[in-house]
Amino acid sequence: MSVVGIDLGFQSCYVAVARAGGIETVANEYSDRSTPSCIAFGPKNRSIGAAAKSQVISNAKNTVQSFKRFHGRAFSDPFVQAEKANLAYELVQLPTGSTGIKVMYMEEERNFTVEQVTGMLLTKLKETAENALKKPVVDCVVSVPCFYTDAERRSVMDATQIAGLNCLRLINETTAVALAYGIYKQDLPALEEKPRNVVFVDMGHSAYQVSVCAFNKGKLKVLATSFDTTLGGRKFDEMLVEYFCEEFGKKYKLDIKSKIRALLRLYQECEKLKKLMSANASDLPMNIECFMNDIDVSGTMNRSKFLEMCDGLLARVEPPLRSVLEQAKLKKEDIYAVEIVGGTTRIPAVKEKISKFFGKEVSTTLNADEAVARGCALQCAILSPAFKVREFSITDLTPYPISLRWNSPAEEGLSDCEVFPKNHTAPFSKVLTFYRKEPFTLEAYYSCPKELPYPDPAIGTHFLVQKVTPQTDGSSSKVKVKVRVNIHGIFSVSSASLVEVHKSDENEEPMETDQHAKEEEVTKMQVDQEEQQKTEEQQQAQAENKAESEEMEVTTKVDQPPQAKKAKVKTTTVDLPIENQLVWQIGKDMLNLFIENEGKMIMQDKLEKERNDAKNAVEEYVYDMRDKLCSIYEKFVSEDDRNSFTLKLEDTENWLYEDGEDQPKQIYIDKLTELKTLGQPIQARFQESEERPKAFEDLGKQI
Ligand code: ATP
Ligand code: MG
Repeated sequence: MSVVGIDLGFQSCYVAVARAGGIETVANEYSDRSTPSCIAFGPKNRSIGAAAKSQVISNAKNTVQSFKRFHGRAFSDPFVQAEKANLAYELVQLPTGSTGIKVMYMEEERNFTVEQVTGMLLTKLKETAENALKKPVVDCVVSVPCFYTDAERRSVMDATQIAGLNCLRLINETTAVALAYGIYKQDLPALEEKPRNVVFVDMGHSAYQVSVCAFNKGKLKVLATSFDTTLGGRKFDEMLVEYFCEEFGKKYKLDIKSKIRALLRLYQECEKLKKLMSANASDLPMNIECFMNDIDVSGTMNRSKFLEMCDGLLARVEPPLRSVLEQAKLKKEDIYAVEIVGGTTRIPAVKEKISKFFGKEVSTTLNADEAVARGCALQCAILSPAFKVREFSITDLTPYPISLRWNSPAEEGLSDCEVFPKNHTAPFSKVLTFYRKEPFTLEAYYSCPKELPYPDPAIGTHFLVQKVTPQTDGSSSKVKVKVRVNIHGIFSVSSASLVEVHKSDENEEPMETDQHAKEEEVTKMQVDQEEQQKTEEQQQAQAENKAESEEMEVTTKVDQPPQAKKAKVKTTTVDLPIENQLVWQIGKDMLNLFIENEGKMIMQDKLEKERNDAKNAVEEYVYDMRDKLCSIYEKFVSEDDRNSFTLKLEDTENWLYEDGEDQPKQIYIDKLTELKTLGQPIQARFQESEERPKAFEDLGKQI
């Protein structure tokens, strides 16, 4: 099994693997450890990562980036609608209501789901890991923002499946960073001592996340998280883009926003300028040649002017910092260190805001770009039975309160109950007890929609507990329902069982019922701790054993009282099927189709690559031979043969630019074979002379 961690970033991704006993961030085929979150579609293949990024402007309509935040969002979502204007590619509404991405691929118009597009990116990252490990990769841990809702998490999980990955855990980005920080620390306080509280700040391209964690030897507990889901590097880029759109608009009479290519170029240049300003406070030029309508544009910018423009953005740095402290009931003095990661924390003013708030220098001991991926790989190593790594327990939390509601037969209305309050430990399972005679539905929802960063509380999932029957005497059956927030941070009603009561002989007379219980049913929720077993099947469940115990009671009226006398009865437990009516998740058939399609596209890319390689081989041979015929091979071929071979090579070169530009792979292979038949004897004579100089001298004498 493989140990792989993937940071799925908005702008770029990182892959870390366990190799030779350590965790290592690995490079892609361009020797770059960062892979752009970008996919370009072409008439014959897809390009993913750096090869796609280079097409952002040349193949603008079919080059997809900035899609991370479309996961689990309806097309009608105001966020999606607002994004549309800034994208060069088209978004469409899919039949399910979710957001689709429309591109030309293989000369056909295609609508891909965001799961498919992220699946493509994951395919690339999987290959990067496979190239580094030199073996197939299936198991991995993938990061998501800590504020992701159920719909978003389910959507990313689907994407991992489309890429043929088995995601052992979706880990929150800030939690991955905390793990990367804590696991190697030798001096953490002992279990019985006061924990060390560390704040983690990640400001990337799209979002800003803050968490505060308590560390003891061998464990970390996330105490609180807070976030600004739209504050990131691209907001800072936007400020510069707006400024130059106006500036150049006036100065050169250009309507930049009317031309998406010009706008995209401006975004690229503004991002470069922004990064330069992090290191340089003086005036910096902003020049773009042939920007629009063949006009060269130029302007200047400096740090202080930039900061003035970004005043509003910088004011948004503090509230999440304040919020985590309030939630965790900690004072600034209680914080041992503030670790910052993410590209945007490189803006000096952002760093200053953070350190000013805490009244201490921020720490940059972690690799700002790679810490998330490294944390993911560490988590994967911990979950892997095959890999030895220091034991380290991670307790995360649910960022939003989750409730269940159901039809209460007694009240003839809805009853509800908050099963997981905000910041409740996760992963976690609870068992709820209901008394029912027939199947019933539980609806999960976010109790506090206002707390969600988005308007749509998409958890709205119905879980139908099926096959519920009354007891043989007609009374209600006791039904135990297990609800959980799993290791991915996803809520579900995971199982249900019915307790069948078999009365024994001594207990034949009707049972007495408690008057009080007649009116009220006690629904008990107990913590059900997951078993820890390091077996392949139970890897996902094993991390849950760290959940702490808790008891909780809620009451609700029902039509049928529970039996008051519980003695002298035998019971058996029957598992009940649960039907999930998930609002957002892709159906199984659809998912299988996507998996199959991804396989076809991978095959197509592979074939296209082989075809290109075959073509390049011909081209290379032509250049190489032509060069050598006038140098090292000169002496080994007669003038006539050389002339005719050179002519043949020239013909082939012309052919490559004309009829031979776009041929099936076999044509190129045949062409190369044909040329080699002519070149081989010359090459052989040369080699012989190299290896046997004496023999050559003899030959020379004879000639
Ligand atoms: P997200 O975390 O939102 O999914 P991401 O992980 O792709 O996004 P990062 O790679 O952490 O984001 O950060 C990228 C952002 O950091 C970009 O906006 C980039 O311009 C910015 N950035 C990188 N280096 C610097 C720098 N030296 N100064 C200012 N900004 C920088
Ligand atoms: Mg990031």
